[in-house]
Amino acid sequence: MKLFSEFGLDSKVVRAITEMGFEESTPIQEKTIPLALEGKDLIGQAQTGTGKTAAFGIPLINRIEVTEERIVALIMCPTRELAIQVAEEIGKLGRFKGIRSLPIYGGQDIVKQIRALKKKPQIIIGTPGRLLDHINRKTIKLDHVNTVVLDEADEMLDMGFMDDIQSILQLVPSERHTMLFSATMPENIKRLAKQFLNEPEHVSVIPKQVSAPLIAQSYIEVHEKQKFEALSRLLDMESPELAIVFGRTKRRVDELSEALQKRGYSAEGLHGDLSQNQRDNVMRKFRDGSIDVLVATDVAARGLDVSGVTHVINFDLPQDPESYVHRIGRTGRAGREGAAWTFVTPREIDHLHFIERVTRHRIPRKPLPSMAEAIEGKQRVTAERVLEIVNDEGLVEFKGIAIQLLEQYDSVQLLAAALKLLTGDKKEVEIELTPEDPLRAKKRRPDVRSSGRKMPGSYVRDGQGQGGGGYRRSGDRPYSSGSGDRGRRDGGSRGGYGGRDDRGYRDGDRGGRKTDDRKPKSNSEFVNI
Ligand code: ADP
Ligand code: MG
Repeated sequence: MKLFSEFGLDSKVVRAITEMGFEESTPIQEKTIPLALEGKDLIGQAQTGTGKTAAFGIPLINRIEVTEERIVALIMCPTRELAIQVAEEIGKLGRFKGIRSLPIYGGQDIVKQIRALKKKPQIIIGTPGRLLDHINRKTIKLDHVNTVVLDEADEMLDMGFMDDIQSILQLVPSERHTMLFSATMPENIKRLAKQFLNEPEHVSVIPKQVSAPLIAQSYIEVHEKQKFEALSRLLDMESPELAIVFGRTKRRVDELSEALQKRGYSAEGLHGDLSQNQRDNVMRKFRDGSIDVLVATDVAARGLDVSGVTHVINFDLPQDPESYVHRIGRTGRAGREGAAWTFVTPREIDHLHFIERVTRHRIPRKPLPSMAEAIEGKQRVTAERVLEIVNDEGLVEFKGIAIQLLEQYDSVQLLAAALKLLTGDKKEVEIELTPEDPLRAKKRRPDVRSSGRKMPGSYVRDGQGQGGGGYRRSGDRPYSSGSGDRGRRDGGSRGGYGGRDDRGYRDGDRGGRKTDDRKPKSNSEFVNI
């Protein structure tokens, strides 16, 4: 591995990298940076999470003059989330040099973007649709662009951005440095590269898993009404040492912890309405193991650091990918393994895919544990408890009665009865939880550019009847050959939830999004002036 000081970079860039906590380059960076510094066109192929942003960002920032007042670099990304992410990383990399960068994506107030553009950013990070909007309005000119990056190119083509990308690239001077990054290399990417790259060098690295290897993540598709049953089966089957169950609201946490107690689990709730004293109490019990299930809201669990949490169960899907990551990070700490289970209602599958996209981690689907599995799990735990004390000295006083019983009854029958008693019958109390509304999935909107009007928020209730055409995410799955509907963006009926493994998800590039619960980031956050 090469250290960043060994690439011959501007000291301000090296300083920024150091401040970001990067010590040595990742494989794709090690291969890409020297080539890019030479100005060679390249195709970079590496899995997500391998540091591709810095691989193109570092040489890009190294090259740009601070005195430059024109747009000299253009980075295209498939979605607003990725554009924001890349912009954040580029912003950090260019901080000490004073490089100005700006993300441009659909769903954000165009007037605001125009204002931010007046601050003369040198790097634009944009989604193709909104970029074209600005180009048509002449608020973005590409005449002086000398570096173009196509990030997540396979994804962009999957989303049907081929035409947009071509239109944009035709407006960039052909005397330029072009870099294309893609996790996969299907035919259409190769064609695109052939058309727009000049004798590119192909750089690829062997996939390597980076994301949270100690946490086994999975999701279970359940209807809202089945959730409680699913939870108790899971708890029975897995018999967690310490589990945190996340609920969306305070009411949910209250109802759920009460329901768990009624069913005989040792659980307590934690949320913001409890007094500090009550919270400390619950936490103390959880830490010392006198309760094994903590039911909490996101807010209550913030910063919660308890070692030995073996399971995180998302009873309700979190709204933000950040919350998801934060929640599951309560387990798998200090080098210990953990499991994270997420309940997803059928209408929330899209939202799950959105979370997968942003966290760049595919979450495998698991079936709901069967009743038999749950029972078996419980019995196993009881049997283990029995075996733990089988060699105990303290059994002497029980031996007399044991001998008497064995004289009268069958040994298997007897042991079974004892185990039954120890396992405890499941208390069949009726549990009724107030249902939570499903999370709204993010949708792609039909192309609104031509209509010239902005669409309202793109968080909509569910897929049925919404125009946003789904698309397949490339990921590591093979492309289905000849699927003519791939990447269409004109609506259509592919929005169903049928395909289990269809990682279709939607993006809000064109539309806005609901902003009442998430503050949109302002442009100025990213312009380093
Ligand atoms: P990709 O685009 O390949 O999916 P990113 O560029 O988003 O990956 O990088 C993934 C994460 O790794 C980011 O949080 C980034 O800051 C971090 N990262 C990138 N390069 C390095 C490095 N050399 N050392 C440590 N962390 C890095
Ligand atoms: Mg990337």
